[in-house]
Formats: sequence, C-alpha cells, structure tokens
Amino acid sequence: MSDLQIDRVETVLLDVPLRRAHRFARVGMDAQPVLLVFLRTAGGITGVGEGVVPGGPWWGGESVETMQVMIERYMAPILLGREVDDIAGIGVDIADVLANNLYAKTAVEVALHDAWARCLGVPVHTLLGGLARRSIPVTWALGTESAPVVIEEALGKLDAGSHHTFKLKMGAQSPEADVERVTTIAEKLAGTAGVRVDINARWDRLTALAQLPKLADAGIELVEQPVPGSEIEALAELTRTLRIPVMADESLRTPTDALRLARLRAADVYSLKTTKSGGLRNTKAISEIAGAAGIPCHAGTSIETGIGTAASLHVACAAPAVTWGSELFGPLLLREELLTTPLRYADGELHLPDGPGLGVELDPDAVRAFTRS
Ligand code: MN
Repeated sequence: MSDLQIDRVETVLLDVPLRRAHRFARVGMDAQPVLLVFLRTAGGITGVGEGVVPGGPWWGGESVETMQVMIERYMAPILLGREVDDIAGIGVDIADVLANNLYAKTAVEVALHDAWARCLGVPVHTLLGGLARRSIPVTWALGTESAPVVIEEALGKLDAGSHHTFKLKMGAQSPEADVERVTTIAEKLAGTAGVRVDINARWDRLTALAQLPKLADAGIELVEQPVPGSEIEALAELTRTLRIPVMADESLRTPTDALRLARLRAADVYSLKTTKSGGLRNTKAISEIAGAAGIPCHAGTSIETGIGTAASLHVACAAPAVTWGSELFGPLLLREELLTTPLRYADGELHLPDGPGLGVELDPDAVRAFTRS
C-alpha cells in the first residue's frame, strides 16, 4: 500500500457561534454551521477541508447536512484506496456519480490538496502554481441593520484600522427604503471609506434599473449581484448602463459560467468563492478565464472558519487576476477560534500563513467544543 493512499474518510458537523448576528436579505444567523472532512493517508498524514454555506441553504441549495450525506454515502467509497495526488481522476469519478453539490465537492477537493501538499512538505499554493501575492486587502461586511447601527460599526472598524472598505448587505426592506438607508451610510463614510453593496439577487430587472443609478449617485463604488443568478442578460444590461462596476456572485459558479459571463460582458468584476465552485482548481480556472477576458476578480467568502478561509487565501494569492481584494473576514466574525494559531490580519490585509498544506492547524479542543451532538 502506498503512503499516499486514503485509508479513512471522516466528517464532523460543528456550530460555531458568531460575534454578532449576521443579517442577509431574508435570513440571519447567530452561529455558522460547518462541515469538516478529514482524509487520512496510509502514511499517517491527514488533510482537512471545510464545507460551509452562508447561514443556510438559501444561497445555493446545499447545507452542511446534505454535504455530510453526499460525502459519506457517495464520495467516500470513491476516495478510499485512492492516492491523494489523483485529484483530477477522483474528480472525474465523483462527477460520474454526483451532479452539482459543489460545496460538498469543495470540502473534499480542499482536503485532497491539503493532504497531498503535506505529504510533499509544500504549501497548497505550490500545487496551484505559486504566488502572485502574499497578502490581500480585506473588506468588512455590514448587515441589513438600520443606518445608525451600521455607521457605528463601520466607524469602529475604521478607528481600529482593520478595514478601509465596507460591503453593505441589502434586500431586507423595500428597495426605496433600502436605498435611502444606504445613501445615509455612504454620505457618512464619504471620503474616509469605500462602500460597496451586495443585493444578493433580490431585485428584479426594473427595480435594479430604477434604483441602482441612485446608489451610483450616492458614491457607492460597486454593486454586487442585483438580479437573480440565472438572469445573466439582465445583469449584462445593468453592466452596460450603470456607470459603476457590477460584480457577479450568484451568477458565477463554474468555469462555464465564467466563460458565458465574459462573452456577454455581463459583469465588470467576478466574485470568486472556493466553496461555490467545487474547489481550488475550478476557482483557479475561473480566475484564468477572467484574466484572459480582462475581468478583475475579488476573493469572496461564505463565512468560512480558518480552514476554508486559508483555502480561499491560497487560491486568491495564486491567481494573478484577483486584483480587487477580498472579503475573507470569516474568522473575524466567529466568536471562537478553531485554529491553534489564528490567521494573521494586519494593516487591512490577510496574510498567507507559512507551513505545509493549508499552513494552519485545527485546535482539537475547539473542534470538540463545537461539534454538534
Ligand atoms: Mn455575494
């Protein structure tokens, strides 16, 4: 038996409490459900990957519970006995038995990279082709609360010097009231911080055409996914007519999506997320399509713990097209640290950790403390 062969697949469900409730357009969350998948090799090396969605199945239809079933029942039989460097072959075989489920596939694909890189004694980014940068700016996401609450939080972050740009979640109230709220916030922060908005696919085309120019007038620097993910033509129309950049998130999951969006010039910026795209390799492929099309990328988050955030950081640092910073603030939103050494945030940037694999280690006591019973 080769040292690289997988002899054990294990999954664990956790609920990690947040520092403050995080409000999206229609749902809120107090704790982040997380799936961890561990792949152990015959040589005694274990790789870990994280499966996580932003607060529930509303974003992409998957949950940590569905991921656990898909991994244990359908992917584990394919993984057992395979070598951890057989990533392309394993991916083909998994695709033969399991469509979609990209979040679940990401957890496994990241664990394969972590295990393989640890076997080689190299960082994961080496397996992705090396580094374009060693750190990335991190914006902070503000929720759908009232203007005074959001302004107070933003000013606190600015004072602390930890973030210089903010992304506001929208869509929890009527578009008119929401635009008024965001305008108040943007006016207060004008000149001191950049403000972006994420509408999380809540508006229809006409609402977006009517409301987005007002946001541009208010000084908003970027609009993320105003219309439903499947409405790429409407997204393209908004990208053509609006004088501020439009970023695709829900419309962009696969390399095929990236190519279609590029051909239609449907977005000015791409939001990359390792989680939504099936792993590091697909995310890198999307960034390369974007690079070839002259479209800059932003490293998005699904509010991952240190494990998933490290994975997204490795690919963001390995992809030259990621020139629009990141929102890799997941661990900062969690009340408890899962890593023995936290990821390093300094001067508004997240810095790549050193060491083999993902370069981070789980604290077993913290994992036990938050494991779902
Ligand atoms: Mn988004």
